[in-house]
Amino acid sequence: MAVSPKTRIQVWGESAARCAHCKEQLIYSEDSGLHESLIGEVCHIFAQGKNGPRANPHISPEELDSANNLLLLCRKHHKYVDDHPELFPVERLAEIKIKHIEWIVRQLSIAKSWDCNLATLHYLNIPRLTILSAMSGEMVTYDIDTSRGLYCLGEKLLGVMVAYQGLLEKMHPKVIDMPDFAEPYDDQIGMIFKFSDRFRTKNAPWPDREANYSNYLKGDIAKDPQVYKKFGDWKLVMIIDPMWITTSTAFCDFAPSGGHNIFSGLAMVKTINHDDKIITATPLVMGIPKSPLHDIFNMDINEMPRTIDV
Ligand SMILES: [Zn+2]
Repeated sequence: MAVSPKTRIQVWGESAARCAHCKEQLIYSEDSGLHESLIGEVCHIFAQGKNGPRANPHISPEELDSANNLLLLCRKHHKYVDDHPELFPVERLAEIKIKHIEWIVRQLSIAKSWDCNLATLHYLNIPRLTILSAMSGEMVTYDIDTSRGLYCLGEKLLGVMVAYQGLLEKMHPKVIDMPDFAEPYDDQIGMIFKFSDRFRTKNAPWPDREANYSNYLKGDIAKDPQVYKKFGDWKLVMIIDPMWITTSTAFCDFAPSGGHNIFSGLAMVKTINHDDKIITATPLVMGIPKSPLHDIFNMDINEMPRTIDV
């Protein structure tokens, strides 16, 4: 038996992509925010093999590979707990897991559930949304070839957008309001926040269905596509990877003639650079916010107020 991909995503989501022991963020990249690596490992509490650490012959292979018996750890702690089962018996690992989940709940206590208020989906970071959906208990995975970018999917894209619109409206992820980044602190790294604000736009490419957007970003904050906003001396930069831009309209809205636009969505704080006073955040989903009139214009005909006969 082996842990299924679905269970792995579930364990990553439950653990909020952090080591249950040291809380380290387990989606790693250099400051540029490029070339992400998953540096966490899914660890068995009762060993998978009969000679492994904390082995128990009475547990079925299915139970051994279920999320209940798994814990997300950084590489260092995975090796350490498996090298020293006498220091990390089953009871201690179970306690670490429970404490970690309690810690996540406390972190989320200042969070509110996010109601998707997007009129359009301009940007869908599929790998990040997969982890987010697992955190919200509404896991979804799509078997689509996104290797050149969403825009290059052509007509298949519509199905993906409809599916994600439905998912986002259903899953109500727990997120925080956009912090005041004029006074950032390192604990904010890894937090998911919602935004609905005016941003400056920079460096976005024009749409090209023949393009291969997979290596578009260069890791150069001066040249990569982005939206940004100033907070006092600080600047919040959200790098826009053209891989996840959906439509021609979206490409144009990331490069409007005025150099700014209003966007709503969710992003995760990635780095806080105190020397340059730059905060980078990875957008998970972005779009144009619904106008207050949106629901009226899109009201189902049957729900329209009827003429009242006097
Ligand atoms: Zn660790």
